[in-house]
Amino acid sequence: TTGGEQHEFSAEVGRLLDLVVHALYSEREIFLRELVANAADATDRRRFEALTDAARTLPEDAKVRIDPEKDARRLTISDDGAGMSKEELARNLGTIARSGTRAFGQELAKHKPEERPSLIGQFGVGFYAAFMVADHVDVVSRRAGSDEAWRWSSDGKGSFTLSPATRERPGTDIVLHIKEDADEFLDAWRLEAIVRKWADHIAWPITIRRDGEDKTANAGTALWRKPRAELTEEQLNDFYRHVSHNFDTPWATLHWHAEGTLEFTALLFIPGSRPFEFGEQVRDSRVRLHVRRMFITDEAGLLPSWLRFVQGVVDTEDLPLNVSREMLQATPVLARIRKAVTNRVLNELRSRAKDAESYAGFWENFGPVLKEGIWDDAEYRTDLAGLARFRSSTQEGLTTLADYVARMKDGQEAIYYLTGDNAGTLPASPQLEGFRARGIEVLLLSDPVDSFWPDRLGTFEGKELRGISQAHADLDKFEAPQDDAPRADLDALLPALKAALGEAVSEVRGTNRLVGSAVVLSASAQGPDLQLQRLLRRSGQ
Ligand code: ADP
Ligand code: MG
Repeated sequence: TTGGEQHEFSAEVGRLLDLVVHALYSEREIFLRELVANAADATDRRRFEALTDAARTLPEDAKVRIDPEKDARRLTISDDGAGMSKEELARNLGTIARSGTRAFGQELAKHKPEERPSLIGQFGVGFYAAFMVADHVDVVSRRAGSDEAWRWSSDGKGSFTLSPATRERPGTDIVLHIKEDADEFLDAWRLEAIVRKWADHIAWPITIRRDGEDKTANAGTALWRKPRAELTEEQLNDFYRHVSHNFDTPWATLHWHAEGTLEFTALLFIPGSRPFEFGEQVRDSRVRLHVRRMFITDEAGLLPSWLRFVQGVVDTEDLPLNVSREMLQATPVLARIRKAVTNRVLNELRSRAKDAESYAGFWENFGPVLKEGIWDDAEYRTDLAGLARFRSSTQEGLTTLADYVARMKDGQEAIYYLTGDNAGTLPASPQLEGFRARGIEVLLLSDPVDSFWPDRLGTFEGKELRGISQAHADLDKFEAPQDDAPRADLDALLPALKAALGEAVSEVRGTNRLVGSAVVLSASAQGPDLQLQRLLRRSGQ
C-alpha cells in the first residue's frame, strides 16, 4: 500500500464495518462463505456477460481457489469471474449504497429466466465480513474483456487506496492478512470444513491448496436445482443420507419448485425408518434453509415441530444471503414458505395414505409425532386427525376416524377410545368388556401423547371423542348382552368394599360394563382420564 490514490469510505461503510465486525455475524467463519459467494457470483456474472460479449468468455476450468499461506499469514481467495474495473472497485467495495450485485439483479429482471445465472447475494454487506478475520485486505482485480488490473487496499478503518497492478487472467484475488487471533483460518483442514458446511453446493469447484496441491472441497452440485428427470434415485438417496445422517432409504421424496409470489425449491425426504436417536432430543425441524444455493441455517424452523422427522433442503430466492437470525424470525417470507411447504407435505401424506400397508409403516414410525400436532397446532388439527390411524377393538390393522364414524352403531353419539401405555395388553383390558359385549367399537390408544390430544380435538365429523375409562360411559343406551347368571347382592358388598378401601377410592358402585371380570378401576367423569393421571403422577404433578 505504498502510494496509490487515497479514497475515503462512504460514511455508511464506516458504520457498517463496525456493525459487521462486532455484531452482525455470530460466527467469524462466515467471512469465507461471503467471499466464496462473491467469487461464485462473479463467475456466474461473467458467464452471463459472455452471452452477449465473446471477449468475456469464461475459461472452461473456471473455479474458486482458496490458498492459505501459514508463514506469510495470508489467505487468498481467487476467482475467474467478471472482475472489477478501477471504478467498480471504488464503487462496489467503497460504498454499500450501490451493490453491484443488486444493480445486476435489476438488470436481470429484464431477461428471460433461462438466460439468468443464479446469483448469490443481493445485498451489499458481505465483503466487509473479511475484516472480522483480517487486519488488512488487498483486492487485485482485472475486469473480463480488459487488460488492466487494479489493486484495492484497506485496513478497513475509514479509507482505501487504489493503485495499478498486474494479473495474468481476468478475475479477482481477495488477499486477507490474517489477524493475530485468527490463526485457525490459515489451516487448510479448517477451511475445508467451513467450505463443506457453508458452500458445499456452490456449482463451481472450490479448491483449497494443501501441501502444494489444489484439492476440490465442495460437492459442487446443488442437487435440488436440477430437474427431477436428471436425477437418479441413487443420487437422491445419497443426498438424503448426507443431509439426514440416516442410513436407510427415504419412504417419500418430495421435490418441487415454487414460482409466483414465493420462489423456492424444496427437496424433502420422509425417512423410511425411525432414526435411532429420534424422539425427545430432537424437538424442532432441522430442514436446511439455503438462499440461492448457499446454506444459511438448519435452525430456521422451516416446518412445524410435528413434522420434525422430515429432512432436506429449502432453497429460496426471496431472502438476502446475509439474513441474520433476528431477520429470520421477523420476516414474513419464512412464515409463507413454511405454510406452503407444510401443506405440500400434508398433501403427500394424504396421497400416500391410499396405500394402507405402506402408510401403516410410516404411521408406526412417525404417527406419535404427528399426533402432537393435533394437540398443539390448532391450524392443522383437523387435517392431522384425518391422517391419523388407530388400532381398534373390532378391526384388524389400523382404522381412520372417518371409517370408525361410518361403522358407528345406531344411537351411538360418541367416538369411544381407551388409553393405556401397553399396546399389547390394551385389547385385554376389562374396561372394554361392556363395549365388546354390545358390539361397540373402541379405539385403542397407547402412545403417551394419546392422553392429551383427544380432549383438544373434541369432536371429529361432529362426533365427540369420549374416553371409556370415564365413569359414565353410555352403555345403558345399548342393549345389554343376555346374561342368565345370578346377580351378586351388591347392596351388601359395595359399602363393605368402600369401607375396606377407604380414602384410596372415592366411590364403589355397581356397573354394567363388565362381563368376565369382577372389578375395574375407573376414573370419575369430572377428573382426568386414568392414563393421564398415571402420566401426571410419573412427571411428579
Ligand atoms: P453483495 O455480494 O451482497 O453485493 P458484497 O459486499 O459481498 O455485497 O460485495 C459488494 C460488491 O463487490 C458485489 O456486489 C460485487 O459487485 C463486488 N464484488 C465482491 N467480490 C467480488 C469478486 N470476487 N469479483 C467481482 N466482484 C466482486
Ligand atoms: Mg456478497
